[in-house]
Amino acid sequence: SMPTVAIVGRPNVGKSTLFNRLVGRKLALVDDRPGVTRDRREGEVRLGDLHFKILDTAGLEEAEADSLAGRMRAQTEAAIHEADVVLFVIDARAGLLPADQPFAELVRRADKPVVLLANKAEGNVGLSGAYEAFGLGLGDPVPVSAEHGEGMGQLHDALAEVL
Ligand code: GDP
Ligand code: MG
Repeated sequence: SMPTVAIVGRPNVGKSTLFNRLVGRKLALVDDRPGVTRDRREGEVRLGDLHFKILDTAGLEEAEADSLAGRMRAQTEAAIHEADVVLFVIDARAGLLPADQPFAELVRRADKPVVLLANKAEGNVGLSGAYEAFGLGLGDPVPVSAEHGEGMGQLHDALAEVL
């Protein structure tokens, strides 16, 4: 069956933008199951010769403030558990922030193949942030721009190595 790829990272790095870029609107579907997976979205991706299922994880706007951290953590853990490969996303413009670290820790602990994406890197604007991301110990960051569709070929090549 199709392998599963989970998009993981702190809020606002561009996970949902990447999800929409990869899935395309007409294939997107909303998962309304109750509990921690309530806000999760999953879709089907064809990227060149690759065909996989992709999971988005919630952002701030989708969670209740009082249980925000716990719900994001639980949802991220569930998505990582289900995934064959994790796409860990950072914001190359902002660089590495303390808020990235708990998500990076969950990814490291999972001991699954990881593709590290430095998003918002259109026009090489975020190159210094991408270099910072190397310090996560999750491999070479792949610079992409989910919003502008840049770096999708490199993303394909990185995924092809682990899928
Ligand atoms: P999420 O919380 O990780 O799902 O992030 P979103 O996909 O909601 O994006 C957060 C913000 O970053 C939005 O304002 C997006 O328009 C913006 N964004 C996402 N991808 C890019 C990108 O490649 N370049 C730039 N400059 N902004 C982006
Ligand atoms: Mg989102």
